[in-house]
Amino acid sequence: MKVPFGDLRTQYQSIKSDIDNAIRSVIDETAFIRGKYVAEFEKAYAAMYGVKHCISCANGTDAIYITLKMLGIGPGDEVITVANSWISTSETITQTGARPVFVDIEPDYYTIDVSKIEEKITSRTKVVLPVHLYGQPAEIERIKEICKTYNLHLVEDCAQSHFAEYKGRRVGTFGIAGTFSFYPGKNLGAYGDAGAIITNDDDLAKMSTMYANHGALKKHLHEMEGINSRMDGLQAAILTVKLPHINEWNQKRYTNALLYSERLKDCKEIHIPGLRPNSTHIFHLYVIRTERREELQSYLNDYGIETAIHYPTSLPFLKAYAYLGHCPDDFPVAYRYQKEILSLPMYPELSEDMIDYVTTKIREFFK
Ligand SMILES: *Cc1c(COP(=O)(O)O)cnc(C)c1O
Repeated sequence: MKVPFGDLRTQYQSIKSDIDNAIRSVIDETAFIRGKYVAEFEKAYAAMYGVKHCISCANGTDAIYITLKMLGIGPGDEVITVANSWISTSETITQTGARPVFVDIEPDYYTIDVSKIEEKITSRTKVVLPVHLYGQPAEIERIKEICKTYNLHLVEDCAQSHFAEYKGRRVGTFGIAGTFSFYPGKNLGAYGDAGAIITNDDDLAKMSTMYANHGALKKHLHEMEGINSRMDGLQAAILTVKLPHINEWNQKRYTNALLYSERLKDCKEIHIPGLRPNSTHIFHLYVIRTERREELQSYLNDYGIETAIHYPTSLPFLKAYAYLGHCPDDFPVAYRYQKEILSLPMYPELSEDMIDYVTTKIREFFK
């Protein structure tokens, strides 16, 4: 049996005629950039989130950059974020001219360790930028309280957590803005790059829309300089077709995750993902930990099971951040876990047979 790490084809085949029709309409109408299909998706996404504004843009990285920039973040400022994430989270901070300040992760849920945020706050801190990593909400209520106490903006990186909930409320709606990626492999994925910001703040929405469109709300009326970060009509039309399915797909991922955990829970050598109480993990990734990660990964590979590592080097230890001069003791949990984490195949279309096969091979390896 072969178990690929991802499988975008099976999902496409399940909604092929709707997708093909949507693509044909966009081409027939030559509605290639922004326009009707993008407006329709923005409206539908905002409605599903119960927020006033959804501002589309070219990708999830730009969604973070545009938000920070339009909150006025720049040189001399500091943005607090988490040690384990994809580099978009921190490189966008740097792109505004501000400095990323990293915080270690919690041992059980792999998201930002709230108890270590306050010690990082200085007079230059302007934003806290948590990531709902792997699809699991961060401890967002307490983060929000800290932001309130210190008068900081809260921006949520939801690139891996579409429609995940914390105490019945969707992540992305706790702070001033939530940013999303629709990269093809994300839980809600386009067929190319795409991203969005959600917010209830009218000013931020207006400024972000403007900034993403060369600083103009109307053609040729540039109120400022901006950037070119627009969503394609094709991506928007595809996302609109996929949107009504997202809850069912997230639910299937969750069911698959429970199957994995059930079959692996007695295996002493590995740690299965912890579930934060009162929240829904949407399992963008199913991440286990073992001290024999490299051996296990190559064993599984020999049996046709593809795995991946998210991420092999935590942000502070990347060459890109060598200038910050961090050592392992600054982020002991992230440092230890980067050598132990392993992402197993995870998608809605994963079959029970595949999960049985993967978990059987894992158990065999440790025997
Ligand atoms: C994917 C991702 C992004 C960036 O999204 P792109 O659409 O690829 O630019 C940002 N943050 C996190 C945590 C991500 O996983």
